[in-house]
Amino acid sequence: MTIRNVTVLGAGTMGHGIAHAAIAGGYRTRMYDVSDAAVGNGRSAIEQIVKKGVELGKVSAGDADAILGRLSTTTSLADAVQDADIVIEAAPERIDLKLALFAQIEEHAPAAAVIASNTSALSITELAGSLENPSRAAGMHFFNPVHKMKLIEIVRALESAPATLDAIEEVSRRMGKETVLVRESPGFITTRVNASIGNEAFYMLMEGVASARDIDKALKLGLNHPMGPFELVDLVGLDTRLSILEYLHRSLGEKYRPCPLLAQYVKAGRLGRKAGRGVYDY
Ligand code: NAD
Repeated sequence: MTIRNVTVLGAGTMGHGIAHAAIAGGYRTRMYDVSDAAVGNGRSAIEQIVKKGVELGKVSAGDADAILGRLSTTTSLADAVQDADIVIEAAPERIDLKLALFAQIEEHAPAAAVIASNTSALSITELAGSLENPSRAAGMHFFNPVHKMKLIEIVRALESAPATLDAIEEVSRRMGKETVLVRESPGFITTRVNASIGNEAFYMLMEGVASARDIDKALKLGLNHPMGPFELVDLVGLDTRLSILEYLHRSLGEKYRPCPLLAQYVKAGRLGRKAGRGVYDY
């Protein structure tokens, strides 16, 4: 199928970035959110990204107008999806909320439209299973900030059709992204590997193997990681990392048991940069 119209549900951190990638890729794009304030904030964030692109000489002024001209926003879900070829859902990470959205998409979008969810950890198979035709849905996992991060993990649910995955692949490519295909599985590829590295780093710190600074330095200079695991967890949030590890531990077993030192830092309120202190003080 040829995709012409993209709809993005949610105009938050991820939604506005996805909508920007879609208009930059040449798609007519509708961005939906629940309030005028939310769609307004999303639109301003997109305008900032495009403006920055012009300042850096990556986009001409004429192209910037054309890119922004492809964006429309709405607070009506029925309007948002009525002529969509693909709907990309980037609403808050709650299963009840996403299931309700899937029901509304099914009611108002064309029956042939592909439905993609940007969920980080919920089951795409469960979301797809709520549809009359589960084969039209799959995961499309973007990274933050979307305009800088090259990867999309395409997540195959139990019954995702090849045509659904092909359509998502095509849209990803036109958005200028690289893709990997993952069978639905907790943490996909990136979250699972990253959580393991971060957890191992905490175990090494707890065992007194090396200081936090030296563990970070070793991974940056010895393994070419752009950030050390403690610098990264301070950015992500120690509470977020702990809840990811708890989820991986529940679903994948013992090797993901969160390090007790990480849990202790969270109890102490050392949540990372957002709290002014995490592994490091800011
Ligand atoms: P966010 O809180 O920044 O944005 C969510 C937006 O959804 C808000 O603007 C909110 O108003 C809107 N919203 C609330 N109810 C809605 C509804 N019923 N329908 C549509 N929109 C609604 O959250 P986010 O970080 O953009 O996360 C969105 C999704 O992307 C989540 O599933 C999250 O797990 C996933 N994700 C996040 C990241 C990240 O780094 N932030 C990375 C990959 C995937």
